[in-house]
Amino acid sequence: MCKMALYANVIVDISNGKLDKVFQYRIPDALRQKLVIGMQVVVPFGPREIKGYVVELTDQTEYEEAKLKEIRGILTDSVPVESRLLSLAGWIRRNYGGTMNQAIKTVIPIKKKMAKAEKKTVRLIMERTEAKNQLAEFERKHQTARARLLSALLTDSWIEWGVVTGKLNVSGSVIRSLESLGVLKVDTERTYRNPLPHMRGGGCEIALNEEQQCVVDTIRKERARGQNEVYLLKGVTGSGKTEVYMELIAGVIAEGKQAIVLIPEIALTYQTVMRFYGRFGERVSIMNSRLSDGEKYDQFLRAKNGEIDIMIGPRSALFTPFLNPGLIIIDEEHEGSYKSETVPRYHARETAIALAKLCHADVVLGSATPSTESFYQAEKGRYRLLELKRRVSGRPLPVCHIVDLREELKSGNRSILSRTLEQKMEERLSCGQQIMLFLNRRGVAGFVSCRACGHVIKCPHCDVSLSQHNNGRMVCHYCGHEEPQPAVCPSCGSRYISGFKAGTQKIEEVVRARFPNASALRMDFDTTRKKESYEQILSAFANREADILIGTQMIVKGHDFPNVTLVGVLAADLSLHVNDYRASERTFQLLTQAAGRAGRGDTPGEVVIQTYQPEHYGIITAKNQDYEAFYTQEIAYRKLLSYPPVYHMLVILAASGKEQEAARAADDMANEIRRFMPACAKNEGKRDLFLTGPADASVAKVNDIYKKVIYLRAAEYDTLVAVKDMLELHKKDHFIYKNVTIQFDFNPMNGF
Ligand code: ADP
Ligand code: ZN
Ligand code: ZN
Repeated sequence: MCKMALYANVIVDISNGKLDKVFQYRIPDALRQKLVIGMQVVVPFGPREIKGYVVELTDQTEYEEAKLKEIRGILTDSVPVESRLLSLAGWIRRNYGGTMNQAIKTVIPIKKKMAKAEKKTVRLIMERTEAKNQLAEFERKHQTARARLLSALLTDSWIEWGVVTGKLNVSGSVIRSLESLGVLKVDTERTYRNPLPHMRGGGCEIALNEEQQCVVDTIRKERARGQNEVYLLKGVTGSGKTEVYMELIAGVIAEGKQAIVLIPEIALTYQTVMRFYGRFGERVSIMNSRLSDGEKYDQFLRAKNGEIDIMIGPRSALFTPFLNPGLIIIDEEHEGSYKSETVPRYHARETAIALAKLCHADVVLGSATPSTESFYQAEKGRYRLLELKRRVSGRPLPVCHIVDLREELKSGNRSILSRTLEQKMEERLSCGQQIMLFLNRRGVAGFVSCRACGHVIKCPHCDVSLSQHNNGRMVCHYCGHEEPQPAVCPSCGSRYISGFKAGTQKIEEVVRARFPNASALRMDFDTTRKKESYEQILSAFANREADILIGTQMIVKGHDFPNVTLVGVLAADLSLHVNDYRASERTFQLLTQAAGRAGRGDTPGEVVIQTYQPEHYGIITAKNQDYEAFYTQEIAYRKLLSYPPVYHMLVILAASGKEQEAARAADDMANEIRRFMPACAKNEGKRDLFLTGPADASVAKVNDIYKKVIYLRAAEYDTLVAVKDMLELHKKDHFIYKNVTIQFDFNPMNGF
């Protein structure tokens, strides 16, 4: 039985970010049963009575009991958006740890003082093909300024006035003349900073096929019965999941409700956004990390004012303050980026489900390769499984070939390209089709090692090897430390010290040498550092300005290139050898997603997977595009080792600049947990909590901070929550390690 709290912490103004200004009140007996986090209450404040929000309930007070005032009453006439988000913050705080402050800052957009945006922008209004013809004409007439501006507008459909007159060096009179020609329009007033300023709506609706319609009908029928559920929409790549989302959204909007669509940031391309915009026009907005704080705040304000119905974005879009959200969609639900990597380390999927419960919304989780977690939940009947088994218009799934790289080596081929892949590339190039080559690794990120003594050069601040870059320098990808590559081994003095090269750059070189007549684009961490370069590379490839796209995992996410008929995976094993129990799952997902890029147009596609481990189940099942076979093996392995989703996992991290202190703090906590364990023995005394460690984190030192970890596994999530609560109390009252920070990570995605 949980005891009713005695005191409530109340915030009287959440719009200003002064979340530390929390006032404590006594809860009168009559309200003790009713009061929950998020509720709007009336409290005495100086001589007045004002409204506030309950952000925390507690039995501890730092004030003199007699001096505390009492809450006057609960406001029940309406449930403000803030109340819902604050209850969600309470849920986040409880389930993932961290402070209430951190949780509130996660869910409530904080107003920052900013000048109202009122800028002049130039935007393209002419239809694209027409504009292209116009451009050709300007070029023919040598009207270079006009051509320059129009060509820029064909890349970015709107440009700030200052950029046009400045960087593009186009005069105001030229801009006005293009305006009178109907090519562009100059906008002078924008009340909101709108990240999708002037895309044009009104695109056509696609008639759903039978499978798609069946999914939509099922969900609608449940909604009509007032039944809200979590649906897992498992649809093979290219099966038309996005169309299903849009149809469901249209229904929800017709009910007068709103929809939140989560898409991993990397898949949130112009192409994707345009599809939503094409159907729903200006009532769509997006969120992404490139928006300024002001732009983000404005988007949230538009949502709160009821000016938009749909918010598309990465996990933070979940906290859009819609008045009445009816549907939350999470596309590519298996993506690791849905887990926050900073405190509170919430998972957007679980948090979306918690939010949906608060506002009677449906949740649709979509993926071609559902996470093992979600499929397990579906198997247990907690999510409802819906399937799209066929690609639209009967396009076949691509044919997959596996190449054993060991055999290649035996027969004397030492190239990165196997003979099979090379031959198929030649075939496709000769018919003018496009190719994607995929390497699960960034840049020329090879470590530098000595061939004489085996010494590997590591970052002096972190426990990781430095990566060799082309400019003769080595870089740490954790902290950014850089140093020149040494000429001789610092350990033995040998001159045979060099980088292990198998990066995208190297592949690009090999491809250029082997296919000198083909043009290749490379997309990886290094070529996409600039803000727009990611979109530029993708659209150049989509416009068939190159034959081959070489890249890391960023090229396999959700892009639709109809002319790509061959996908090559250069070393499928690279993602298998990660020290993480999810390695097989990630490999399976990456390979399936990569394969899904091939043959999305009218010509059937092919996939070549090169690997040193052709017998691995992750690779075989990906080749056969057999999700169920993969899942069956994977879940058996998770069961055997008591890993998530069968068990839940909590990683407790102790970090400090002083290694000894981090170690002692971790020991102290481990002892506390051991003392606590008997209380967790449910089911006739059977142990339900397993402890491993403390140990060094897998990267034991980052930026001169030492990290120790404790791993806990439990059958019930709540057992882990209880451990967290216990440790937080312990930390507050008995913890002597002032220079140690403690963090909790529930069901971690990225390993410690
Ligand atoms: P997924 O998200 O499952 O990979 P998409 O929704 O992107 O699939 O659909 C793949 C392609 O098929 C898109 O170009 C889309 O416009 C098209 N498409 C989807 N549904 C239909 C349909 N019912 N009829 C015709 N084309 C469709
Ligand atoms: Zn050496
Ligand atoms: Zn470093």
